[in-house]
Amino acid sequence: MTPNLREKCGVVGIFIPNENVSRLTFLSLYALQHRGQECAGIATFNKNKISVHASMGLVNQVFNQGILDQLKGNFSIGHTRYSTTGSSSSINAQPLLFDCELGSIAVSHNGNIVNADILRYDLEKQGVQFITSSDTEVLAQLICVAPGKNWQEKIKYMMQKVEGAYSLAVLVKDKIYAVRDPFGIRPLSLGKINDGWIFASETCAFDHLGAEYVRDIEAGEILEISNSGNFSLQAIKSKQQAFCLLEYIYFARPDSKFNNNLIHPVRQQMGKLLAREYPVDADMVIGVPDSAIAAALGYSQESNIPYGEALMKNRYVGRTFIQPNQSLRERNVQLKFNPMSEIIKGKRIILVDDSIVRGTTTPRVINMLRSAGATEVHMRITSPPIVNPCFYGVDMANKAELIANHKSIQEIEKHIGADSLGYLSIENTILATKTEKNTLCDACFTGNYPTSVPLQFDKMQMESATSDRHELNF
Ligand code: SF4
Repeated sequence: MTPNLREKCGVVGIFIPNENVSRLTFLSLYALQHRGQECAGIATFNKNKISVHASMGLVNQVFNQGILDQLKGNFSIGHTRYSTTGSSSSINAQPLLFDCELGSIAVSHNGNIVNADILRYDLEKQGVQFITSSDTEVLAQLICVAPGKNWQEKIKYMMQKVEGAYSLAVLVKDKIYAVRDPFGIRPLSLGKINDGWIFASETCAFDHLGAEYVRDIEAGEILEISNSGNFSLQAIKSKQQAFCLLEYIYFARPDSKFNNNLIHPVRQQMGKLLAREYPVDADMVIGVPDSAIAAALGYSQESNIPYGEALMKNRYVGRTFIQPNQSLRERNVQLKFNPMSEIIKGKRIILVDDSIVRGTTTPRVINMLRSAGATEVHMRITSPPIVNPCFYGVDMANKAELIANHKSIQEIEKHIGADSLGYLSIENTILATKTEKNTLCDACFTGNYPTSVPLQFDKMQMESATSDRHELNF
């Protein structure tokens, strides 16, 4: 797992006739915890009123039995958050709630809006007063003031104005909406649960609830779910799809599916192709837990070099309210990973990981393996070098901080202290997904952004290391 890549957010919406759904929403957020560990929130609709509880913390820190009991209603949306725009504080915790002309609306958002600054400026000129710094509020305020006699028309208007990535869960009186941007950059899937419906960022949220995966929400689609049934509107015709390739490589849980395509075998195939592209004589293949385990298995199968569980991860080292001091930050890798020297000692190791972002974590892991007695460490990466920032909701680094942007592969190899280094080619990364190249976003590897990228944003990414994004722990 690459700690320099921050998961974005997870969203969920649930409707079940005659059933309070806050507990199910809580459980589905639990399954989406990997997509955001900073804030969590749930909004429910009951007796003509939307109630929201959202705060900083992990899902089980934010909610308890008493809070869930108070969140009554059979329509609900939820959110887990890692901020990619907007500061890190409770005020930006979602769902965000607004009072509009048509009534109250609550919104959960996964993604990032590239023209948020311009839209915000226009809305402020119209007299709209903002209460948060997040791009989600821009999107929600735009829905509020949009022309239209119903919510679907207003959401459609917003979609015509907003550029960027958004998978949304929207709650209004007696209805929930699943909304996906016209490029389908971030995931959103639909499932059937009892007599009702669930949609979520990942299908792993369905499995824990016994819900059945139905299909992915289409790029540019608005799906309305209510007591009167489901009504789908292709609000914007999708000219080109651009689903995030990094969801396949790293973000999504391996037990999730995109377009009915299970992630675990995709990552295994990436490992197999990597073994073909960069074979090396060694004694053991290790995957950096958790996201590179499937790829390491694939590498092992293809190379006939035994797979070993030699690097244990403490899964309970997450983000906490207590920020570690500098010396603890330095030791974060040791807190997170523990190499077992009894298994490693005297062996030539192939270490498989999904990416190298800034190049700050990988040298520490390699050093750890050497200290545990590895005689050689060969680094294999299941993606091409990341050379461009993401504008669609992934907090990786600004362009100048990306190691592959200013160092050659040989220089990175030396920097991380590996005996050899191999990156999977873009062709084989895409091949492993069993997805057409022209339906994927691969901009952080190739620079081919599906939308326009605002110039000043690009400049800011290039020049500033002090954006409102988070200080990274590593
Ligand atoms: S730029 Fe990279 S991380 Fe961002 S959406 Fe595209 S593929 Fe995903």
